[in-house]
Amino acid sequence: MSRTSRRTHRCGELRAEYVGQRVRLGGWVHRRRDLGGIVFIDLRDRAGIVQVAVGPSAPEDVRRAAAGLSGETVVELEGEVVARPGNMRNPELATGEVEVHPSKLVVVGPAVTPAIPVARGKGEELPAEELRLKYRHLDLRRSEMQANLILRHRLLQRARRTLAELEFLEIETPILTKPTPEGARDYVVPSRVHPGEFYALPQSPQIYKQLLMVAGFDRYFQIARCFRDEDLRNDRQPEFTQIDLEASFIGVEDVLGFVEAVLVALWDEAGQRVARPFPRITWREAMERYGTDKPDLRYELAIADWTAQVGPLGVPFFDSALKNGARVRGLAVKGGAALSRKDVDQLAETAKQLGGSGLAWVKRQGEQISGSVGKHFTAAALGALGVGDGDVALLAVGPDRLTSPVLDRVRREVIRRLGAKPTAAHAFAWVVDFPLFEPDPESGKPVFAHHPFTSPHPDDLAGGKLDSDPFACRALHYDAVYNGNELGSGSIRIIDPAVQRRIFALLGLAPADAEARFGFLLHGLQAGAPPHGGFAIGFDRVVMLLADAGSLRDVIAFPKTTAARALFEGAPAPANPADLRALHIKVER
Ligand code: ASP
Repeated sequence: MSRTSRRTHRCGELRAEYVGQRVRLGGWVHRRRDLGGIVFIDLRDRAGIVQVAVGPSAPEDVRRAAAGLSGETVVELEGEVVARPGNMRNPELATGEVEVHPSKLVVVGPAVTPAIPVARGKGEELPAEELRLKYRHLDLRRSEMQANLILRHRLLQRARRTLAELEFLEIETPILTKPTPEGARDYVVPSRVHPGEFYALPQSPQIYKQLLMVAGFDRYFQIARCFRDEDLRNDRQPEFTQIDLEASFIGVEDVLGFVEAVLVALWDEAGQRVARPFPRITWREAMERYGTDKPDLRYELAIADWTAQVGPLGVPFFDSALKNGARVRGLAVKGGAALSRKDVDQLAETAKQLGGSGLAWVKRQGEQISGSVGKHFTAAALGALGVGDGDVALLAVGPDRLTSPVLDRVRREVIRRLGAKPTAAHAFAWVVDFPLFEPDPESGKPVFAHHPFTSPHPDDLAGGKLDSDPFACRALHYDAVYNGNELGSGSIRIIDPAVQRRIFALLGLAPADAEARFGFLLHGLQAGAPPHGGFAIGFDRVVMLLADAGSLRDVIAFPKTTAARALFEGAPAPANPADLRALHIKVER
């Protein structure tokens, strides 16, 4: 119901069926064209644009007001909806069959000249993003941003509805909390009343949702704002929104089922039909075949192990790595001969930048075999690698930790450069059986791959691997991926306090520290904990994908820049000295 005490409709709602009706509208002057005898105003609100025509027969005061209107001014008007003559219809506008002839028109919100334009001509570039973020109130008036945030709203409501129907309870958890480790730094908040003590903003509601399971709520969800002080990358925000859920008396199957139900509903809300169940792939297989834990499965191209087929190639780095027992892994790219010399050189350069030892290549075109290591291959040898006429083989050698990221990147680049056809529009998948720990890149010590509350795989726990070979230990940890994007993570949790203590110890936490930091969880687990597990969907990313937006910042009303600054309000900013004194804080630079 768009009607209020001041208007009868939204501008963008008017259609041919309203012809003859008197309406009251309010909106922003999108564009104004003065054709001498007649002034056309495109009036805009969240529903869209309607044309307002002020001709010679309009009352004098209306004509005067219309003559002086500048862009982005807010006006209210009353008038009649009139059918446009056939040749004046605008099929590109939903309201294009009608216009409004006002009998009253009042400026209620005069506007200074906008710092960035709201109305844009076709093909006209957007203002620089810094300006868009600084003058966000104007940027948000653009139809694309309005559409993105309206879609976001609809997706949120759909997620809520879907989870409520699955008997999940929406329960809020605190924002002023104790640190929950998710692998990033905390944003801390000083306490004024407890000098020298701090709250942390939640990196996720993880511990709280587990305690809600201990408390017997059975199925919880929350549209949770999370905060992580990370070195920012282009696709991260320091505060972001997760659809966070947790359930009790469940196994992996149940959680995957719940999450699939939500994702399918969200895609449906955006008009996309997708099928479930999603296929599953183990983490090991994903790393082996695609070099990444978030493979884009729309494309068949996969990494192969060619160690057995490929011998020394007369290239020093290659041969010495082989001698040291490294594996040769490669991509047989169908139609890859279409890649130019420059393409391949750029791929090799990318490989080097990623710290790999480089990329060797062979091109097969008819009788001709060329490429950096072409002379070492016969047509038959290439055939055995699956490299046919018109194809290219791209080879990397070295430890997996180097070749995987190189071949992942090269695979994505090759797909892009060849304009490869996807085999499906939507490729959802579950990546399961992640390792429990990863080696810290500097110290080599175990750090958690997900978070320290993730249950080890029962077979590995029973087999004693936790102590004998922690890095070989798998976790009941699963990620949802979609077209090469990670949509979220989750796991089955540890409910045995003794196992939880062992994990803390393996991560290098002394018992007293574990007690001080996570005592409230450990006490909860001792109090009778049901088997439980959950998941968190990265909601901003989902909206970005469904809105086909270029960045997370295009689906968040007031986002931060990649340097974690809020340009609109100017945050962070120095605090006033009196406030700092009250907080018992001295700033050292
Ligand atoms: N707390 C986890 C995260 O933020 C999600 C989960 O394990 O449920 O990634």
